[in-house]
Amino acid sequence: MNYDVIIIGAGAAGLMCAIEAGKRGRKVLVIEHAEKPGKKILISGGGRCNFTNINVTSGNFISQNPHFCKSALARYTPQNFIELVEKYGIKYHEKKLGQLFCNSSSKEILDMLLAECSNNGVEIQLNCKVTNINKLENFIVNSTDGNFKCESLVIATGGISIPQMGATDFGYKIANQFGLNVTKTAPGLVPFILNENSFNGLPGISIEAIVHYNKKSFQENILFTHKGLSGPAILQISNYWSKGNEITIDLLPDADIISKIEVNKPIKTELVNLLAQIFPKRFAEKWCELYFPSKPINQLNETEIQNLNNILRNWKIIPNDTEGFGKAEVTKGGVDTGELSGKTMESKKIQGLYFIGEVVDVTGWLGGYNFQWAWSSGFAAGQYI
Ligand SMILES: Cc1cc2nc3c(=O)[nH]c(=O)nc-3n(C[C@H](O)[C@H](O)[C@H](O)COP(=O)(O)OP(=O)(O)OC[C@H]3O[C@@H](n4cnc5c(N)ncnc54)[C@H](O)[C@@H]3O)c2cc1C
Repeated sequence: MNYDVIIIGAGAAGLMCAIEAGKRGRKVLVIEHAEKPGKKILISGGGRCNFTNINVTSGNFISQNPHFCKSALARYTPQNFIELVEKYGIKYHEKKLGQLFCNSSSKEILDMLLAECSNNGVEIQLNCKVTNINKLENFIVNSTDGNFKCESLVIATGGISIPQMGATDFGYKIANQFGLNVTKTAPGLVPFILNENSFNGLPGISIEAIVHYNKKSFQENILFTHKGLSGPAILQISNYWSKGNEITIDLLPDADIISKIEVNKPIKTELVNLLAQIFPKRFAEKWCELYFPSKPINQLNETEIQNLNNILRNWKIIPNDTEGFGKAEVTKGGVDTGELSGKTMESKKIQGLYFIGEVVDVTGWLGGYNFQWAWSSGFAAGQYI
């Protein structure tokens, strides 16, 4: 069968790209190896899909070339996607920090994309495995459902995080096959494993904090888990962290422990009880057990008070590792942006070969940024294929 365009991967980027190419009258086939499209869309945002962020800038993305994402993000903005969402009557809300979520379900976003595909004549082949790709004058795609020929081939197979959802390294292999460089991949937006299991008994406890690493900091919640630490502030910093390095956590972003001690001194409060006014009680108890034995606060001298303040504001930990690709929301690294046109996403070396979405070395923060990159890069390629 002959197509103008074949897109491999029916995820966020692939579907957006297919819609745009379909609108231009291109004959489009999307090949998906899973039994259904858009699985990550369905599980995203806790089932409510954080589909974009109204504060998107290139500063919210990590890439060897921080400028690469600018052109695509400028040509398809959060507002463009919001217009599409509103056209379909999907109700949404801002949860916090510009993050837009569906009121009801992620399925609404996937249904919208599939409706747009169908309205624009896009064919989607599910349960189809690509066995080989060759380029003669056109691309020849051999698959378990037969052989296809196309002028433009788009790789939209995403990263390798959550392999149990169908993620594969297919995109990187194709890049290698055609001589394109792939930067080192690593799990991103991923929980940390802590060396010592000292925080036993705290899983589920969440505390607002500022997490610092290498001049980056995020103020949001941290969450104790059975293996270590997670929560939005930890996931954000994990995008920047590399193994063996220390992170610093300020557990008092909005509280002043020194004046609190002064105010409570006359009533001879126990330190652990005072800390339990700021933190969950179990955390306060564990903290005193590990770092600062409790005593009545009127017995704390100035140096001890300063010391207490200092360790609460500069809690230093060296994570043992991350929980890896099995738990990572995204994959850092990918197809080297130096190999692609920022305007079209086309390979500079191989005419007609495009890479979009997470397979490219562009990784967003937590908060709707990764989907915005998928929509914007998919749109960009969709205008040219
Ligand atoms: C649990 C979780 C929650 C998330 N929540 C959010 C959120 O709320 N907001 C946000 O912005 N981001 C979120 N993300 C990140 C976001 O889902 C991804 O960045 C985004 O889906 C990337 O889009 P993509 O189209 O590049 O890849 P994907 O959406 O991963 O799509 C790739 C597609 O290619 C298919 N595929 C893979 N290999 C092959 C192959 N060999 N042949 C054929 N098909 C193949 C896959 O099955 C998949 O359908 C979340 C991620 C996870 C794991």
